Amino acid sequence: MARIVMKFGGTSMAGIERIRNVANRVKQEVDAGNQVAVVVSAMAGETDRLVNFCREASPLYDPREYDVVVASGEQVTSGLLAIVLQSMGVNARSWLGWQLPIRTSDAHASARIATIDTEALGAALATGEVAVIPGFQGMADGDRITTLGRGGSDTSAVAVAAAMKADRCDIYTDVDGVYTTDPRIVPRARKLSRVTYEEMLELASVGAKVLQTRSVGLAMKEKVRVRVLSSFDDSRDEDGYRGTLIVGDDEIEEGSMERQLITGIAHDKNEAKVTLVAVPDRPGAVATIFTPLADASINVDMIVQNIAHETGSTDVTFTVPKAELTRALDVLEKQKPTIGFERVLHATNVCKVSVVGVGMRSHAGVAATMFKALADRGINIQAITTSEIKVSVLIEDDYTELAVRVLHTAYGLDAEEEADA
Ligand code: ADP
Ligand code: ASP
Ligand code: MG
Repeated sequence: MARIVMKFGGTSMAGIERIRNVANRVKQEVDAGNQVAVVVSAMAGETDRLVNFCREASPLYDPREYDVVVASGEQVTSGLLAIVLQSMGVNARSWLGWQLPIRTSDAHASARIATIDTEALGAALATGEVAVIPGFQGMADGDRITTLGRGGSDTSAVAVAAAMKADRCDIYTDVDGVYTTDPRIVPRARKLSRVTYEEMLELASVGAKVLQTRSVGLAMKEKVRVRVLSSFDDSRDEDGYRGTLIVGDDEIEEGSMERQLITGIAHDKNEAKVTLVAVPDRPGAVATIFTPLADASINVDMIVQNIAHETGSTDVTFTVPKAELTRALDVLEKQKPTIGFERVLHATNVCKVSVVGVGMRSHAGVAATMFKALADRGINIQAITTSEIKVSVLIEDDYTELAVRVLHTAYGLDAEEEADA
């Protein structure tokens, strides 16, 4: 007997027929003698719909009430799954975030899980009852409902698995694993049978939304065995693997196929570019830009500072999340006398494309391959950042699909046959 957490995403939960399919999968695990906790997402599109209601109600909505509204999508699917399981003769009940409870920070709309009370849950599982837990939601001090940020049900699932010391955390979604890039963009993307926590963390953080970044960080820290697999397709790859297993670096053999120079390519259209023209070129100038942005909790990602003009000034370009652009411009305008720039430019028609792979540590020329492949297609690079295992470039968003495809080919990642995701 094993204790397992199964998580089902929005497409898997979209409608009663699909919930029946999910219930069948849960029943199989129960029939195999396992203790099962299920974490569910809202039906596909539902969270977007709820977010839009809040925006329509007031652009300056109270984030605490926003959380009350957007958490409701998962309440519906958890109740429905419990009903369908019961109709199949499986003993099941729902446990909302506040009932367990899952305690979180009070950062509404992007709360972090602090603790999960496992006593009642453990007792329920021990009786053979299936626990259905809505993902994405928790409760902050003062008993206010919180949500964990978009895609947060993955993190709920990993957190439940860690708290319950589960043997496995299976993330069921609408693709059959983690691919070398989004298979909806590159039909020749290849499924990875294994990927390391570190690479998955980096891929997720640069836009591969198949797992929420935080869920990967948590799985790495808590050593949760995470597998990504399809709710719709049970086929195995030629090596006999189903899905993708996230593993420690020591679990991938030296010299094996999986130890590629480049693991994958991801893109992110959620950033906006800001340029401050003619910032005085003197020590401390950059701090006057980024300190007030940090104070306003605005995350700055890529930064480029041009060489100084003869006039003793320089241009500084950086990116911020698109959703924070208005606030960032407001902060910068207020700081204009202190920073001393001439004018501010901004653009939202940009996309960040990133190449990730641990092999970069030991191989030179990865970035050069990227720049050349993009140049050959006439794609202009507006900003660059690198880390030990990643190179990212900012390009015009119209070129996103082309850039991802070209890079996928340039690094030799194309499969012979197209993925059928
Ligand atoms: P869920 O609702 O199950 O959480 P998501 O839509 O959040 O599903 O994540 C699955 C989607 O992630 C896929 O449909 C796919 O388009 C996208 N995706 C992006 N990058 C990758 C990748 N490298 N491998 C697999 N899927 C990816
Ligand atoms: N329903 C939430 C979202 O769409 C959480 C999730 O699906 O993971 O972001
Ligand atoms: Mg998701």
